[in-house]
Amino acid sequence: MTNSWVNWAGDQRCAPARLAAPRDPAELAGELARATTAGHRVRAVGSGHSFTDTCLTDGLLLDLSRMNRVLEVDRDTGLARVQAGMTLAALNEQLDKHGLAFPNLGDIDAQTIAGATATGTHGTGAELPNLSAQLHTVELMTADGRTVELSADSGSEAWRAARVSVGALGVVTAFTLRLVPSFVLEGVERPVPVEEVLSDLDSYVDGNEHFEFYMFAHSPIAMTKRNNRVDLPPAPRHKLVDWFADIAVSNHVSDALCRLARRRPAVIPPVQRAAAYAFSYRRQVDRSYRVFTSPRLFRFTEMEYAIPREHSAEAIREIKETAKRFDTPMPIEVRWVAGDDAFLSPAGGRATCYIAVHQYEGMAHEPFFRACEAVFDRYDGRPHWGKRHYQTAETLRPRYPDWDRFAAVRRHYDPDGRFANDYLDRVLGPVSASAPE
Ligand SMILES: Cc1cc2nc3c(=O)[nH]c(=O)nc-3n(C[C@H](O)[C@H](O)[C@H](O)COP(=O)(O)OP(=O)(O)OC[C@H]3O[C@@H](n4cnc5c(N)ncnc54)[C@H](O)[C@@H]3O)c2cc1C
Repeated sequence: MTNSWVNWAGDQRCAPARLAAPRDPAELAGELARATTAGHRVRAVGSGHSFTDTCLTDGLLLDLSRMNRVLEVDRDTGLARVQAGMTLAALNEQLDKHGLAFPNLGDIDAQTIAGATATGTHGTGAELPNLSAQLHTVELMTADGRTVELSADSGSEAWRAARVSVGALGVVTAFTLRLVPSFVLEGVERPVPVEEVLSDLDSYVDGNEHFEFYMFAHSPIAMTKRNNRVDLPPAPRHKLVDWFADIAVSNHVSDALCRLARRRPAVIPPVQRAAAYAFSYRRQVDRSYRVFTSPRLFRFTEMEYAIPREHSAEAIREIKETAKRFDTPMPIEVRWVAGDDAFLSPAGGRATCYIAVHQYEGMAHEPFFRACEAVFDRYDGRPHWGKRHYQTAETLRPRYPDWDRFAAVRRHYDPDGRFANDYLDRVLGPVSASAPE
């Protein structure tokens, strides 16, 4: 029987020579030793929620989903030690029991902590960096089965490389996370004209702890979402209300409209104009992680770029205009994050605006995404490592001031390129050529 693996979106697949799910670091070290003997390259996989070919290999594919426990929590310091294969969903529930939470999260909670941090996964909030900024230590296993614990104390080069590593340094086995006391959020969703938002953008972005909006190419309305901390008890919605809002409307109705649009693209403009209002009204007061995240049940693919915040309004307008030229029923999503200092963080060294474009499954994405990428290129855009893009190491190197410093750390921890695959060869370059000494 052939091993096979496919990502969440169903459009990246591979047939690894071996697919293994080690239960502990000792089993993992054994797998790595066998891979070295067999001459196999190695990739680790989380929940497979990346849209790129970042997890694919014909060698050893390591599924860390059995290394999924919380190992230690210290409520007073806010530090929690967790295994790398734990999903954010499971982690959020466990942390809440200890009165702790992530200060920020993305749209979903299906990712593993290792997968999410490896690609620089982010939420929204001008004062808040991406999720990997919550890492306090990273435990990494290299190809020879050795384990190293990296932290700010272990030397800044390795630390700044390990926080967003795209799986290029080795297999992450555990993390210590720095968390905050759990909190309640009020989430308010409202339709506001796009131009009204763009003309007063700083007030929206800086006036809320977490501000984002979605918009359709053919509608003048932005579907805004503001999440702010409140001193109120959580008021979880009735399960039926939850189901109606998160499953029926956000997923089944959207899916049905996308299917219709795929069959009859002419309906896209009127459907988008109606949907922008219909999907926009909502208020929720609940534990932070329940307000940040919601389920995504229908399949699509995505491109997302990080651009300097000062170009937000002009780039948003250009992407909206670009999207009008293509048949896509799905919205554009816009978020903001603070800069950080991880070498490969798309938000490294600059306050950042993230703009994401989507395409429904079965509809052509490449011409649309390439046209959007041409816009992002003009704004010195850096692609999300887990989302589609057409860059190479050559085009990316000038966009990352610390590119060569990451390459040097990579060469140190993975001198033989054991953790490379075609994706890394393309976007980071082969290890041997990754940086001139
Ligand atoms: C529906 C949907 C919604 C999304 N929403 C957001 C969002 O709001 N914000 C955002 O920024 N992104 C978002 N993403 C993208 C997603 O967060 C990233 O692609 C993330 O990396 C996926 O995590 P994963 O656990 O599925 O990792 P995978 O996709 O399985 O792996 C991602 C990378 O991590 C590496 N990796 C995984 N485990 C390890 C390990 N133990 N050691 C070393 N390397 C490892 C893999 O090799 C790969 O390079 C979304 C994706 C989907 C499908």
